[in-house]
Amino acid sequence: MALWVRTTMAKYCSYSTQLPIHFAERPISAFPAKRLLSVRYKAFSVQASAKDGSSTSVGFLGLGIMGSPMAQNLLKAGCDVTVWNRTKSKCDPLISLGAKYKPSPEEVAAECDVTFAMLADPDSAFEVACGEHGAANGIGPGKGYVDVSTVDGGTSKLINQRMKSTGASFLEAPVSGSKKPAEDGQLIFLTAGDKPLYDLASPFLDIMGKSRFYLGDVGNGAAMKLVVNMMMGSMMATLAEGLLLSEKVGLDPNVLVEVLSQGAISAPMYSMKGPSMIKSAYPTAFPLKHQQKDMRLALGLAESVSQPTPIAAAANELYKVAKARGLSDDDFSAVIESLRAKLGSS
Ligand code: NAP
Repeated sequence: MALWVRTTMAKYCSYSTQLPIHFAERPISAFPAKRLLSVRYKAFSVQASAKDGSSTSVGFLGLGIMGSPMAQNLLKAGCDVTVWNRTKSKCDPLISLGAKYKPSPEEVAAECDVTFAMLADPDSAFEVACGEHGAANGIGPGKGYVDVSTVDGGTSKLINQRMKSTGASFLEAPVSGSKKPAEDGQLIFLTAGDKPLYDLASPFLDIMGKSRFYLGDVGNGAAMKLVVNMMMGSMMATLAEGLLLSEKVGLDPNVLVEVLSQGAISAPMYSMKGPSMIKSAYPTAFPLKHQQKDMRLALGLAESVSQPTPIAAAANELYKVAKARGLSDDDFSAVIESLRAKLGSS
């Protein structure tokens, strides 16, 4: 990547990495000015690096709900992208947009300077990184592996060790934000690991996201993501309870959603998901099985430091019930169905 591009990106995007988080500068992308820079600015920076023939080639492994739009945004911005997905047919739309294809993670990692991975859970993230024909078999010195999947810190550290043993560098970078923010390039990256790789990957993170946090050692990004999703899972369960209770006592739950939106406990998620939950519709943006996985991993994290998390533990039980009722692939807002069953209100 051209030096001036890196310098320019650094000027716009860098912030303190070693200070305690509460002292760290806000990432520039958290400021309104960054939003105004828009995708046009992002695309320009990457195309400019390609002009001098020194562009960074990018691999993308895992083209599910999140991975597909993320890879698509990289392509639209003019990046040199090579894709792989276990189910090959999901690569086809990306190939038609100009992506190259390789038949294994190993070959993608061998081909590309930086390889991103967006897999379902710890097992698949580990398998794709370290299994037979996994990325670690193709990666090596001078290359980087950026895992944007939501996994536990232990899995992330194992992948880090394996990548390091090849001479490659590693960054964990789970994302906050769902299907729509992924489509709009508005994700929030929670990164930790090798700082030089963070610097190299930042222009790409800025194409896919609106802000990024560098949190230090591997494990911190995973932990931050799990705390965030633990809270989100509990908030969703609380919304489900509130909607059903309001209905049961004869209130219009749509009015509850409106009241919530105007007060101190307003959350975009309530306004986004509430109306469809009232209609028992759960179009999948964040699969319920992944939310339950995140609750399970967050409870494990809490257990590891003897931190009581009774609210999250109770919410987790609801997600487990919903999974048992066959709602794994519905949106996580379908957790309301587990309460409908309990309260007999449907
Ligand atoms: P998804 O649509 O279920 O996609 C999962 C991806 O993992 C697919 O590419 C799938 O391949 C692949 N995969 C699963 N098991 C595999 C295995 N054993 N070997 C190889 N590949 C495997 O999930 P998603 O919503 O994109 O989420 C991906 C990750 O991002 C998860 O960790 C999730 O928690 C996290 N996340 C999701 C959201 C969201 O709103 N959806 C938001 C933030 C973070 P196939 O296509 O072959 O099944």
